[in-house]
Amino acid sequence: MIRKNNNPAPIKDILSKLTIEELNIKGKKIFIRADFNVPLDDNLSITDDRRIRSTLPTIDYAIDEGAKVILASHLGRPKGKVDPRFTLAPVAKRLQRLLGKEVIFAQDCIGPQVEGIVSKMKEGDVLLLENLRFHAGEEKNDEEFAKALAKLADYYVNDAFGAAHRAHASIVGIPRFLPSAAGFLMRKEIEYLKGTVQNPVRPFVAILGGAKVSGKIGVLENLVDKVDKVIVGGGMAYTFIRAMGYEVGDSLVETEMLEFAEMIREKLIANDVKFYLPVDCVISQSIEAGAETKLVTTQEIPKGWRALDIGPASVKLFSEAIQDAKTIIWNGPMGVFEMDAFSRGTFAIAHSVSDAYALTIVGGGDTDLAVHRAGVSDAISFISTGGGASLQLLEGKELPGIAALTDRKEE
Ligand code: AMP
Repeated sequence: MIRKNNNPAPIKDILSKLTIEELNIKGKKIFIRADFNVPLDDNLSITDDRRIRSTLPTIDYAIDEGAKVILASHLGRPKGKVDPRFTLAPVAKRLQRLLGKEVIFAQDCIGPQVEGIVSKMKEGDVLLLENLRFHAGEEKNDEEFAKALAKLADYYVNDAFGAAHRAHASIVGIPRFLPSAAGFLMRKEIEYLKGTVQNPVRPFVAILGGAKVSGKIGVLENLVDKVDKVIVGGGMAYTFIRAMGYEVGDSLVETEMLEFAEMIREKLIANDVKFYLPVDCVISQSIEAGAETKLVTTQEIPKGWRALDIGPASVKLFSEAIQDAKTIIWNGPMGVFEMDAFSRGTFAIAHSVSDAYALTIVGGGDTDLAVHRAGVSDAISFISTGGGASLQLLEGKELPGIAALTDRKEE
């Protein structure tokens, strides 16, 4: 597919921190914090390795430059204790296959044994440390733990965008002791998510969905004076529709958000932002497979029924609204897409977004999954690898993991 407007703002305008290319890493020990928090099945087989693949450019670069590459990550929630269900051993195996070279695996992430392995490393060698969260100090951002990690290396590189919103030892602690830079994935996430919001090619459309308005307050507030159009679907739409005075049956309504919904709608309209809500929906009396469903307008949701997907008229309306878009940011599904009966709206919007002649950016988490299930991920300009972290960037907030990196000195 031919695309234009695929270039977000120049990186120097949106990231004042060092990036990996600015470090002289030849022959040096480089600690790369990656996000290898991949899903595993009961046999500890990796069911989706996209998180590993997305950080390969940084690892390959470090190897090519002749660095001694020390990789670290968390996996799951072992709560500060060694738990074999959360070992990174399967990641070491997969990495070895993806890199086509040996990956040494350490049984711990700190201590004399690890230091011994590191001291024997040669240029271009790759070592993966065991799960950082096997130590309670990681999530507590313990200074001694951060120091023990920092002791292993000469430089620190953060490529773990998915964990950059967490103030953990391996994210904000190590950079206190080592020169620290962003990896290529981190840089790309910032370029797309922050750069696009700051400097969008217009018309700029935001599509928001998901369960609750309360989860998207910050995003709505940040985008209210930056976008040209806002499309709201998913469960959060019904709080807006209720706030306009309509009955919405048993649809998800956050009573404490009614005032906010009305305020933000008025603000959007006052800013001449075109604001779209679903005009029809798929309703059911329960969220169970096989439950009876009906298609109604959003003004006619009966008592005892709840809206669980947008209907075909809404798909048409939303699709027309994004047709002239040059930039689209999409975060949150249009319905309970995990269930077949309520997935059509989300998948249809995934197709409309991927068909748009625009720079298209999909926020991580559920929307990422929806775009993959719809089979259109290859036609999206950029899919974020972080759920919480991408939301924080869209809220206009600084991520602790980025703030902690070393400032670039302007020439
Ligand atoms: P969020 O994490 O806020 O983006 O919400 C994602 C979740 O919202 C998904 O698991 C969807 O099943 C759910 N969701 C989307 N639309 C609705 C709806 N109309 N009613 C209830 N839940 C919904």
